[in-house]
Amino acid sequence: MQRRGKVKVLWVRHNEKISFNRPYTWFILGLRGSGKSSFLEHVAENYLNEGHVVFDLFGSRDGENLAWLRSPYVNDKRILLLRGENVDVNCSFTVMQADKLTLHDLENHDIIISPSPLYLNIDQEFYNAAQLTDLLYKRIHWNRLVYMVVREAANFYYSRLKVSENQILAKSQMIYLIREARHCGLSIGLDSIRYYAIDIDIRNLADYLMLKAQGVLGLIEDLKWLYNYFNPMVVQKMPPKYFIIVSRSGALGLGSFPYPTWHKQEGEDILKSIGIKVEYGEMPKEAEDKGRFKTISDNEHAEIIRLYFEEMLSMHEIAERLKRSSRTVMEHIKGHDAAVERSGFCPACKRVQSQYKNVLIKQERAKIKEAL
Ligand SMILES: [Zn+2]
Repeated sequence: MQRRGKVKVLWVRHNEKISFNRPYTWFILGLRGSGKSSFLEHVAENYLNEGHVVFDLFGSRDGENLAWLRSPYVNDKRILLLRGENVDVNCSFTVMQADKLTLHDLENHDIIISPSPLYLNIDQEFYNAAQLTDLLYKRIHWNRLVYMVVREAANFYYSRLKVSENQILAKSQMIYLIREARHCGLSIGLDSIRYYAIDIDIRNLADYLMLKAQGVLGLIEDLKWLYNYFNPMVVQKMPPKYFIIVSRSGALGLGSFPYPTWHKQEGEDILKSIGIKVEYGEMPKEAEDKGRFKTISDNEHAEIIRLYFEEMLSMHEIAERLKRSSRTVMEHIKGHDAAVERSGFCPACKRVQSQYKNVLIKQERAKIKEAL
């Protein structure tokens, strides 16, 4: 395969050779449309060319990371797409449910993509992304680096929020994970549009800070010293293929990179361009807080059915276990059976893919009890 040109940097202070065989943290700051994510992709190409793995984990809503599927890499790299539960994907690439991914799969693939459009909703995507991140941090030995692409650093934080108790914990988890990445053979590329409060912490951890066009407001206060080296007009408006680079060691330069031609265009329907068909199953219902009481979510409904059938608990015992009234429990068991009788399945159980979705629970339970 044709190898594309590498990053070119004209160093204006010190001098540095950039290696794509090190688990660096890359942080890219710039306006929307300044070419941040295409730069993340270019860094990814460099890691790929060295034989490492690219994990495009945090995509944008519009499925930007699906553009990999029309890159030249589809010809000689092994590609894996991840999807959420209850989503059907029809395409010629290998697709796997995100929560089934193992560390072994990292060894057998080169480009792993978790595209937003292959999830039911943001909640599902962020929850899965947090689980996938945790999986990456379980690597204790490796032959290849994994370059994790985080399009929009704030998404990393939001996904941590899905698995931690509060905002402070989520933030400190994220910082910790970025700091510890190298110990798991993880390189991370993040981008951000400048005004998030998390930026400063990430900036402090980055091996390379890249600045793309910053717009009319220019550089933020603590980066204004860069004006000693660069013309403010360049900082405001440089074209997408250029960037300013600041390394941890203090080297400073103006760089350019070959813009990936396969990058997703703004407003493009990427699913259509690539030819992927996606069908979304019904979303599980969450519990709703009605003030005096909380409604039963699909998951809790399925748990009631499971406790009644699998663990053979009485309605009263289930009520105690779940801190619900016996009447509520009874209504759900009756409702489940009524639905199965009426239409062959219980919609709530179907939405959470319970194995009992077609089972007449009272009848089957009685049979088992009799046999005992
Ligand atoms: Zn049910």
